[in-house]
Amino acid sequence: MATIPVENPATGATIREVPVTPPEDVAAVVERARQAQPAWEALGYAGRGQILKRAQQWLLQHADEVADTIVAETGKAREDALLVEIAYGVNALGFWPAKAPKWLADERVRTTNPLVLGRRMVVRYRPVGVVGVIGPWNYPLVNSVGDAIPALAAGNAVVVKPSEVTPLTSLLFERGLHECGLPEGVFQVAVGTGETGAVLIDHVDMVMFTGSTRTGRKVMERAAQTLTPVSLELGGKDPMIVLADADLDRAANAAVYYSMQNGGQTCISIERVYVEAPVYDQFVAKVTEKTKALRQGPPDGPGSVDVGAMTFPPQLEIVEQHVQQARDAGARVLTGGHRRAGAGRFFQPTIIADADHSMTAMREETFGPTLPIMRVQDADEAVRQANDSPYGLGAAVFTKDVAKGERLARRIEAGAVCVNDAAVNYLALELPMGGWKASGLGVRHGPAGLRKYTRQQAVMTYRLPLKRELHFFPYNARVTGLITRGLKLFFGRGSRRV
Ligand code: NDP
Repeated sequence: MATIPVENPATGATIREVPVTPPEDVAAVVERARQAQPAWEALGYAGRGQILKRAQQWLLQHADEVADTIVAETGKAREDALLVEIAYGVNALGFWPAKAPKWLADERVRTTNPLVLGRRMVVRYRPVGVVGVIGPWNYPLVNSVGDAIPALAAGNAVVVKPSEVTPLTSLLFERGLHECGLPEGVFQVAVGTGETGAVLIDHVDMVMFTGSTRTGRKVMERAAQTLTPVSLELGGKDPMIVLADADLDRAANAAVYYSMQNGGQTCISIERVYVEAPVYDQFVAKVTEKTKALRQGPPDGPGSVDVGAMTFPPQLEIVEQHVQQARDAGARVLTGGHRRAGAGRFFQPTIIADADHSMTAMREETFGPTLPIMRVQDADEAVRQANDSPYGLGAAVFTKDVAKGERLARRIEAGAVCVNDAAVNYLALELPMGGWKASGLGVRHGPAGLRKYTRQQAVMTYRLPLKRELHFFPYNARVTGLITRGLKLFFGRGSRRV
């Protein structure tokens, strides 16, 4: 059986070899899921909820083992595993089973059209069947397992294709779900390369993809062949705007945290900053001082390091190129700016001042521990620059005038905007989270983030049907005239607003 080695990016050591599901075996994996799904759906919300809530307890009890696994395969700081990934997973395992009965309940609909009066109308949400979840390497729990949870709560079977770089967390969670009584075949992990992911698209009933915009386009193209619905959570270049009246300490702390947290490898984050001229120098001095104080290295227990490793080898080169190109184009690198010497794959926490839009660091997703900062004259220029991007995932505005902050937030082209905060909207599972423009299609979280794992069915029931409706054959000029006059009476002169 073919295997792939999983490496610890913080040390360079091989953790273990994992068996792969070659593309030619994917159909059989999906078939197993298809066989298992009807019984899972038949368990109902309560039955499924019981197992998912057991999994919530399992995750809490195995938090150390799960965190060890995440830290080992990603090289991230332990807090990034515990406070983000495990905290998210624990919340999601309680949230989705609790919301599913409400958000997927039959909806009674009434019509104002007189031609169909007397019918009972219901919108019903039925699980699609088998959902394929294709995940990236930056958050092996949140972005692979995390998307499986609502799909399972809705009554689907799930096949997860984690990134080949970080498959261990999904495999561990698969073990956990089985220990909690999840029937065989309902949740499976297909470890493999991009080709395994591509073939998965051909067989499943819906695809939840998280990853780069480039691969997202390929996923949509492939899914078009079978008309399989897709939900795409893609790359971002999230702007932060700092107005002159902002609490600069809060803004600087947030800028450093949300740009460097998880080694800067987070989709919704801070990837670029626009600061109003009067406070620009002060802001730059504050973030530089705070960044110089960050501790980096191979993660150990809690509190051991702030910024971990770069998980994916080619990403280190992209970060290096963005920093070098900014330097060449005239930016000032005030701290960091280089790979860290020694074992493991690290890039130093880096502040890039005097950046502008001629620099790739301001225009393309860097996905590393860097913070490029640009001076702007006023809020209008900041919004213009923020929107000058192909991406539209998240954004942040910092100001003490929250009304103004919200007015600016509403002008930014992004799926989520925070005022005096950043990225934490992701933790409110009630809020839809989805990218605009090249950042994605569809949403995760919120009612739409659950309903996307279902098909809508309109059910219309006529309890006391007539033998023959007025509009049935044979057509008759008198009846047609009657209906036409009736329509004029009903809809004419604005008497009915429908
Ligand atoms: P990729 O797009 O390279 O890969 C994502 C997943 O798709 C991996 O499992 C990959 O497999 C698989 N894959 C590769 N090619 C294909 C294909 N042709 N068909 C189907 N699946 C395929 O992304 P990364 O793993 O590099 O993740 C980083 C990216 O993810 C960043 O751009 C980031 O912004 C984005 N991201 C977006 C988030 C969001 O919510 N919007 C959240 C987190 C990350 P393999 O790894 O084995 O090649």
